[in-house]
Amino acid sequence: MKRIGIVNQKGGVGKTTTAVNLATYLALLGRKVLLVDLDPQANATSGLGIEPGDDGTAAVLLEGAPPAENIVHLENYGLDVLPAGEGLVAAAAELLEDPFRLRTRLAGFDGAYDFVLFDSPPSLGPLTINVLAAAEGLIVPLQTEYYALEGIARLMETVDRVRQGLNPQLRILGIVLTMYDGRTLLSQQVEQNARQHFGDKVFWTVIPRNVRLSEAPSHGEPIARHAPTSSGAQAYGRLAAEVIRRVEKA
Ligand code: ADP
Ligand code: MG
Repeated sequence: MKRIGIVNQKGGVGKTTTAVNLATYLALLGRKVLLVDLDPQANATSGLGIEPGDDGTAAVLLEGAPPAENIVHLENYGLDVLPAGEGLVAAAAELLEDPFRLRTRLAGFDGAYDFVLFDSPPSLGPLTINVLAAAEGLIVPLQTEYYALEGIARLMETVDRVRQGLNPQLRILGIVLTMYDGRTLLSQQVEQNARQHFGDKVFWTVIPRNVRLSEAPSHGEPIARHAPTSSGAQAYGRLAAEVIRRVEKA
């Protein structure tokens, strides 16, 4: 399993933070990684210090531009990024008719990578459906708050539907609890509920609420560079190791 979508139709649950930092640590652990930004808001792109532009994911999806020519290589981490930009808004409309566009446009090209991660927008619209059709596995960030599990039921229904049609291979690689605050009973309860409900699908690694994680994007840096000894950095490092173990076992 190499193509992994980071999905949750809810905004602000930690998709982009997970995509950026998981991608960086997988790269730092020696894997060849491509991060594809599929959110028109381009938070993963700018969070890595890349200027969002017209090229990148939108050019590949809309114009059939070669992915290789649109990749930004980040030397510091050994990470490749297909950046997002405004053009993705137009792409979303066009992709409504074509759930396989992303998969088709990356076919062949993605063979050179150990991992291709997709950051997705906060909706179940055409861009996310393209991610579900292209991915082999999904990582679902679950914010540890009261309503977290409600939204996930709808996501799981969509995943089931995609599995029956567009992409029978699709699996949930894992659910990752984000913004965990161990001092609150609520966080502990949400974790307990999630583990009861989803069993070992829930990663052992829990991402703590950590202010260093939230300030890193404004410096255009992943946590591995911004605050490598912070609790957030250590957690994403552990998550990357756990993802590698899960994938290589599968
Ligand atoms: P999404 O991509 O799902 O919309 P983000 O990753 O952008 O979510 O996270 C939403 C906000 O919460 C951002 O401002 C981000 O910096 C912040 N954030 C995400 N994870 C954490 C965390 N573990 N600790 C503190 N802040 C976080
Ligand atoms: Mg996001």
